[in-house]
Amino acid sequence: MNRINFYAGGGLDRLAHLRTEEGWVERVLGEPRAHIVAVWQTRSLVIGSEQPRAVLLSVDAVRGWLDEARVLAVLGESGERLHLAVDVSHWSEEEAQRRVAGFGEWIDLRRVGPLMGREEGSLLAYARGLMWWHARHRFCGVCGSPTESVEAGHVRRCTAPGCKASHFPRTDPAVIMLVHDEDRALLGRQKVWAPGMYSTLAGFLEPGESLEETVAREVFEESGIRVADVRYHSSQPWPFPSSLMIGFHATAASREIRMAESELEDCAWFSRAELRDFGAQGEMLPRADSIARRLIEDWLAQG
Ligand SMILES: [Zn+2]
Repeated sequence: MNRINFYAGGGLDRLAHLRTEEGWVERVLGEPRAHIVAVWQTRSLVIGSEQPRAVLLSVDAVRGWLDEARVLAVLGESGERLHLAVDVSHWSEEEAQRRVAGFGEWIDLRRVGPLMGREEGSLLAYARGLMWWHARHRFCGVCGSPTESVEAGHVRRCTAPGCKASHFPRTDPAVIMLVHDEDRALLGRQKVWAPGMYSTLAGFLEPGESLEETVAREVFEESGIRVADVRYHSSQPWPFPSSLMIGFHATAASREIRMAESELEDCAWFSRAELRDFGAQGEMLPRADSIARRLIEDWLAQG
């Protein structure tokens, strides 16, 4: 139970206490140990296919990129390196390919994350999530004026003198839960998923709701099952585009499934024996880097 989920536990010191220091970003850029993590739209710069690695660029190599970038943010420090993220999403696809020819490829982290080292996977997830937020908060939600990136890329401030509202990076909390009834677990599948794939139920938190209440509501909405004894398991950053997955195990308090057909294509109870032999039945568990998979595997290990 002490494994750390994918995209978390990268060991980065975010140096958050330095973000408000005057001239800090420039000083970081002047350090030889500074490296750039580039983000283009929703893609990260990666090299290698079997064991993909993050491409970390020296500041001198991409000085021109920094001058024209939409956003530059200091991510933090790990080991001997200082990391900054830069958003070059204004490039066309053709230009984005040309600029990195020879040293990397723009790849969706979701495709390669499970194959990457944990430290690099979490660094790319952080950069991607932060840049996504910047790209979608270019205008003030209070007065509609343009916002600008401040505090080393961790706040956007409204540029209207009469407003100056600060906007902070947003993360959308979602609960994800394995509901069990003795030796059976409740899994569902959505139409859009790969054929045969079943996973734990999940859903977004609503205003004024506790996480435990969200778990109970979502499970009931999707499956008609009532739950009791909701227990926290672990959490996982899921910046695809902007979620935090908060994982739970819960005990079923009823058994008869009444599936919401608008949300699910199928929903069923599966025994441990069935789940251990899932592939042989033509079915499959969720992807290896997901907290859903970990919720299932940890429950299997308990029986
Ligand atoms: Zn404003």
